[in-house]
Amino acid sequence: MTQTARIALSRPLRRLFDYRVPDGMHIQPGQRVRIPFGRQSLVGLVVDTGVEPPAGIRLRPISAVLEDWPALPDETRTLLQWAAAYYQHPLGECLFMGLPPALRRGRPAEQPTETHWAVTPGADAATLPTQAKRQLALLEWLSDQDRPVPQKDILAAGFARAQLKALAERQLIRETEAPDRVGTAPADIDTLPELTPAQRQAFEQLPDPGEGFTATLLYGITGSGKTELYLHYIKQALADDQQALVLVPEINLTPQTVRRFTRYFGERIAVWHSALNDGERLQTWLRIRHGEPVIVIGTRSAVTLPFARLGTVIVDEEHDTSFKQGEGFRYSGRDLAVYRAHLNQCPVILGSATPSIESWQNATSGKYRLVKLEERAGKARPPAMRLLDIRSRPLEGGLSPRALQAVRERIERREQVLVFVNRRGFAPVMMCFDCGHTSECPRCDSRLTYHRRDRALRCHHCDFQMAVPLTCPNCDSEAYKPIGQGTERTEDVLQSTFPDTPVIRVDRDSTRNRGSIDRILERVNTGEPCILVGTQMLAKGHDFPNVSLVVVVNADGGLFSVDFRAPEQLVQTLLQVSGRAGRGVIPGTVLIQTCHSEHPLLNQLCNGNYPALADHILAEREALSLPPYRAMALLRAEAATMEESLALLDAAKAQIRDARIETWGPLPAVIARRADRHRAQLVFLCDRRGPLQATLANLCHFLENEKKPATLKWQVDIDPLET
Ligand code: ADP
Ligand code: ZN
Ligand code: ZN
Repeated sequence: MTQTARIALSRPLRRLFDYRVPDGMHIQPGQRVRIPFGRQSLVGLVVDTGVEPPAGIRLRPISAVLEDWPALPDETRTLLQWAAAYYQHPLGECLFMGLPPALRRGRPAEQPTETHWAVTPGADAATLPTQAKRQLALLEWLSDQDRPVPQKDILAAGFARAQLKALAERQLIRETEAPDRVGTAPADIDTLPELTPAQRQAFEQLPDPGEGFTATLLYGITGSGKTELYLHYIKQALADDQQALVLVPEINLTPQTVRRFTRYFGERIAVWHSALNDGERLQTWLRIRHGEPVIVIGTRSAVTLPFARLGTVIVDEEHDTSFKQGEGFRYSGRDLAVYRAHLNQCPVILGSATPSIESWQNATSGKYRLVKLEERAGKARPPAMRLLDIRSRPLEGGLSPRALQAVRERIERREQVLVFVNRRGFAPVMMCFDCGHTSECPRCDSRLTYHRRDRALRCHHCDFQMAVPLTCPNCDSEAYKPIGQGTERTEDVLQSTFPDTPVIRVDRDSTRNRGSIDRILERVNTGEPCILVGTQMLAKGHDFPNVSLVVVVNADGGLFSVDFRAPEQLVQTLLQVSGRAGRGVIPGTVLIQTCHSEHPLLNQLCNGNYPALADHILAEREALSLPPYRAMALLRAEAATMEESLALLDAAKAQIRDARIETWGPLPAVIARRADRHRAQLVFLCDRRGPLQATLANLCHFLENEKKPATLKWQVDIDPLET
């Protein structure tokens, strides 16, 4: 009988391809192979072996195996296969996520060895002929280095290959192996600080590694020392030969965080994030695949790494929406992390001061273990939170006189202040006071934000931008003015009010360059007085011990949104940003400016009692049969016209045979036109996941084969975060 294999390709295709295994070739699932495909030669991943080929079809043979071991270990392969089915995404694309870019392209699964050069012991420069001046210079330069030098550095220093070759022929220098990575000697590794009594109590409730798979929600208020707890847990629970995964939101993966871990675990720490280059990715991937006992700190995609002996999984700030990929393969890194722990039969800890409503429900219903840590570490106390009603109050840069006064007091006491503005740029819109014209994006249903630093009007939904007109584009009036608050405007007002204090803006514009956020955080951590003005980015998990005041410029954005997740996200953001206040010895105050100071949600928020708020939000979701009480999915379509998008969704809806599935829509998306594409969506809700998954799988097949306009795109989003 011919041996066959079923192979996945890195293509957006919902199918696999059968190939013949040549005699004498041994393959197993997860292995990389090279196969002929049309006239191309492609890298494939073996999904299955020994499948019966359809009768009468002559299969083409696999050309070669790329290595004789599976690049994807069983757990990673199972995880990605499960994810492909769960998120209704083509299997090949999911499986290839488990490989670093170099291996997707078919490069060998080994670290490219780099030629290093060193001076031969006992080499005598006097043996060089006098005219060989460059060779002598190179020899002296190499003698000055205290370790073998990579060839590329030698060339970069201005020497030529010919000189290296000549010196090597005279046996004055020699090729050597790369020196070992400079290691952190165990002597450099610090001991962990003692846990506080409250931390110890929480620590003792964390799962014993011998228990196998358990999911724990660690609800720990801001500043309670969750990171400290993770460090202790890893130290205690992880065996010397085991690996650990610590998932963090992108913005939290700063050198400060890495340093905090490296201080205790030295060389075992490896990082994984989007800014690594292909060589770094390959190196880390190989360390993990070869079973080195690494502790990986990474962003969401780290969950697909080929852990061979995973002992512990931690997801920090588990509520953070950046764990969900926003396009293409729309997976949740947090949810995959839980499944990954299940596959490896190891504990997973989800930590947050503001757990997602999904995790809160899992914890309060008993599916997850709930561990609470409701005291701040050390001398720090929870901040005092107050609402400031700003209806018909004069505002400067969005700040009321009381807020400005509070800022002044802290600055005079040489403390630090954080001002939270939920919009980057100078002002969210330009408006003409004569004719009422507003700056709108020509390609989207949205307004253009005024960016004063770059003198541009910019759309935050597409890449459109234009120079700022001096007068109204409609009536030529000079009364064309910025309306509302952005970070730049608040920054300007604060800088002119407090000219002697550094005002540091933190938003996507000011942190665009690699490393800039790190430099900003370093500056704040010197403890010198300063005013931080920033967006969401500032709310995420940073530890600023000298910030004593947080001002929220406007809390009203999420109060009246149509999105059912808006209250949850508002509460999480406000509590997280508030949690930056009073983390050290100085007590913290939070001032929340609002036009709705009687709103129950905001009043409840000021008690700082997240569990009560979460229970309240959960009760509302239950009453309305919304997630997590029902499974939700979204089918999105976008096309050159709204009619085309809606027509496809109507056709999809007509395919649904299962009466247990409720649908909403099809309806235009909240921003219906984006970059000149017209977007619509169809929402699915069902009591149980099974029937919903089955229906969606059928729908995907239907949509793939349905005749569609060439420009139409559709996508399924499971457990969507935006509706
Ligand atoms: P969280 O992540 O819960 O917001 P962190 O882990 O950042 O809190 O801790 C807040 C601050 O308290 C940090 O500066 C940390 O170094 C300090 N801290 C936490 N636990 C301890 C402890 N047991 N001993 C000394 N300092 C601690
Ligand atoms: Zn006008
Ligand atoms: Zn636009």
